[in-house]
Amino acid sequence: MPHAETLPLRLRSRADIEQEIQRKVEEERRRLQQTHQASPPSREHFHRPVERPFTAAERNNVTILFGGLTWKHEWLLRGVFESAGYKVELLPTPDVAGFQLGKEFGNNGQCNPTYFMTGHLIKYLQGLETKGLTRQQIVDNYVFFTAGSCGPCRFGMYEAEYRLAVENAGFRGFRILLFQQNDGINAASGEAGLKFTVDFGLGAFNALNFGDILNDVCCQIRPYEVTAGEAERVSKEMMEELAATMRDRRKFHVSERFPPWLAGRVLAHRKAEAITHTVGKIVDQLWGEQTTAALRRARQRLEQIEVDRLRVKPLVKVTGEFFAQTTEGDGNFHMFQFLEREGAEIKVEPIANWIMYLLWQAKAHHRDRKWLDMERPPTWAVHKRALAEAKFRQKQMFFGVGEGLYRHLYRRAVRELGGIGHDLLDQEELVRLAQPYYHRFARGGEGHLEVAKNIYYTVHKKAHMVLSLKPFGCMPSSQSDGVQSAVMNHFKDMIFLPIETSGEGEINAHSRVQMALGEAKAKAKAEFQEALESTGTRLEDIKAFVADHPGLRRPFYKVPHRHGLTGTAANFVVHVGELMDHRRLFKSAATAQPLRPARA
Ligand code: SF4
Repeated sequence: MPHAETLPLRLRSRADIEQEIQRKVEEERRRLQQTHQASPPSREHFHRPVERPFTAAERNNVTILFGGLTWKHEWLLRGVFESAGYKVELLPTPDVAGFQLGKEFGNNGQCNPTYFMTGHLIKYLQGLETKGLTRQQIVDNYVFFTAGSCGPCRFGMYEAEYRLAVENAGFRGFRILLFQQNDGINAASGEAGLKFTVDFGLGAFNALNFGDILNDVCCQIRPYEVTAGEAERVSKEMMEELAATMRDRRKFHVSERFPPWLAGRVLAHRKAEAITHTVGKIVDQLWGEQTTAALRRARQRLEQIEVDRLRVKPLVKVTGEFFAQTTEGDGNFHMFQFLEREGAEIKVEPIANWIMYLLWQAKAHHRDRKWLDMERPPTWAVHKRALAEAKFRQKQMFFGVGEGLYRHLYRRAVRELGGIGHDLLDQEELVRLAQPYYHRFARGGEGHLEVAKNIYYTVHKKAHMVLSLKPFGCMPSSQSDGVQSAVMNHFKDMIFLPIETSGEGEINAHSRVQMALGEAKAKAKAEFQEALESTGTRLEDIKAFVADHPGLRRPFYKVPHRHGLTGTAANFVVHVGELMDHRRLFKSAATAQPLRPARA
């Protein structure tokens, strides 16, 4: 009788097979234990590399590099850095050559923005080397400033990726300064070279808001400019002036703003001086005459551009991942320029909406974790319970005040800059719209925002088409892409196009956009035709009326948005039709009061 072990598997009993498995497992365990005892692996815990600090003593010699936003945001932020006394240089817009360097020196399997951002930093450093600086001089005299996060997507790895890539490229010891979402500027030991002062923080806050609004306003003016290229030329001049104003602004100081008798008293008490300075700086930065005057001058420059709103254009809302929807170059296939060349009007995404999303998340998390983050007192301990409840409500109130103040300041800047900039989105509404498809706490990337915005712009008829730009290898974007197919099934008239951006494939992406845009153009034309017919007036008469009223050709003339109408031309034609009706009815009154652009 043959031994069970020598029989083929199919002829053995189940018990024999089990026994055989156990024997082999034991054998392997013994082998591994012997190997392990012969050369035990070293188990050192990972520690974040200690970086040479950027100290106050270096402030005059070291140049801070940053980039990755729109040029308008970057110019204004540069003004803020310079106003605080820093040497600063802007990195050029990330391009494909940078992307290739990112792939060469970075880790494998990263998302697209990581390659673009790390690569374009390396490209810049290599450019400095070509100009004659040694690597040691570059490492000593330059630092890079960027935003960081703890995840949950690859954003959490950016800092480590920058360090790895610059080291691989031969710039060992190059310093990366991080602005953490949670921790503020991550200064090392000693007096930090980069200090987060009230002036610096509020200046950056203003720079982001003004950059958002001006970007939005210019996107509304450019497609309708009567003289080609005028909007770009004027906006460059206007931005130069505004950035210079932010750089040269006079900082608040008690001795300069208060009468001597009062300044002397305030300065005599250290606490009173500190409080007065902080409050004074806040008021001066947010509501002061310097800020108001700078915005007024910017508005006056833009106001000179003549526009023709009777051009029928599809309105395209651009959304997606932060980098892909913000960058203005190879990182999103130059999508903004391409869309405008193809005859579209673009609605860009302000950074402020992202900040409001972060605020909303902090508030909602705090609410959801009410009795997890703090101990729940027993029901009979009425006093303790009331105190805990008050503490909870107080924090919720602070979040609410923060949101309200942010919104107020943003609206105020919109008014100062001509009144046509779009308002911030209501985060609660976005949550409500997205919740059936995408959970509000599924974080990473844009979270539920991409799905929510797609629905929002469709149901409110605020765009003919939604274009979502999402980078290759982006984890959160892949999730929301899956969800979008369900969303599109529920909203049949939605024109939604997701485009995956990477270092290559520009022609393919452009041709897909062209196809979707064709549909959006047809929608815009049909809508305009219907709107024109509803006025009962011929297009020639409308044109003649506009020609007679210069106010209607000013960029800041506020055209009311009609429910159900999306396009600028459709809304404009209905409005002009109504004005003409009024004129016919009250001819004498209308001639006595010529139309004027809306005052901000
Ligand atoms: S959101 Fe996507 S593209 Fe952006 S950092 Fe995270 S994984 Fe990368």
